[in-house]
Amino acid sequence: MPEGDTIFRAAAALHRALAGRTVTGFDTALAPLARVHDDTPVTGRTIERCESVGKHLLIWFSGDLVLRTHMRMSGSWHLYRPAERWQRPARAMRVRLDTDAWVAVAFDVPVAEFLRGRDLPRSRALASLGPDLLSPDFDRAEGLRRLAAAGDRSIAEALLDQGVVAGIGNIFKSEVLFLAHVHPDRPASSLGDDERVSIIDTALKVMRANTGARAGGPIVTYRGLRHAMRRASPEESVWVYGRGGKPCRKCGTPIASAKRGLDARATFWCAHCQH
Ligand SMILES: [Zn+2]
Repeated sequence: MPEGDTIFRAAAALHRALAGRTVTGFDTALAPLARVHDDTPVTGRTIERCESVGKHLLIWFSGDLVLRTHMRMSGSWHLYRPAERWQRPARAMRVRLDTDAWVAVAFDVPVAEFLRGRDLPRSRALASLGPDLLSPDFDRAEGLRRLAAAGDRSIAEALLDQGVVAGIGNIFKSEVLFLAHVHPDRPASSLGDDERVSIIDTALKVMRANTGARAGGPIVTYRGLRHAMRRASPEESVWVYGRGGKPCRKCGTPIASAKRGLDARATFWCAHCQH
């Protein structure tokens, strides 16, 4: 599942390329979107802005029309120059937006809908989101309150619940809990105030570090082994994620891993450093 920072960067790239441009062509493989386009054409509208809200990507068009997409596990947005060859097959295209300078293509997005901007606050998908870690006005007190109310679920599960705080995916889940020294199996209800603060502040720090001006490669939470002349592999840039059986970077204990929960997403942790 893409992390919030990935969607944030995708939205920023789309915004830089598309904002202020006029849609010169629109195509979609999704019938509900095609119906809206037939009734109220997208072509001819101006793209006002592109932004992320949690892991949702919103493209705002003139005339109060918003395209909401969610990538889940498989979806992606690509930007191409008009004559450029796509990196994915045309049959994977779900939405295509043409402008004079750029073509934006959504491949395999499982969730896409048009909304009126004025209906957005009432959209169920967005209204249920917790505070967005990547929003400049992240409501920290509300994030802490929701975490305190997350119940007996494991903290690992609670962090993936976008209704607690929005933006954390499976990689940051393991990384944040390692950095906060909290064992992923702890019931959320067992955490102390200081542990919740540590988790939220760590999450803010690593997510923001991954959306800064120099971000763009694999997720980075660990910089110890970086060498200037060598490209970092994803495994070299994290503390525990994907490092099952390898020595903890702090204490040398082999990193533990387990697949838990409904969709069996992997969790990684150090049994010595996390309590
Ligand atoms: Zn350790």
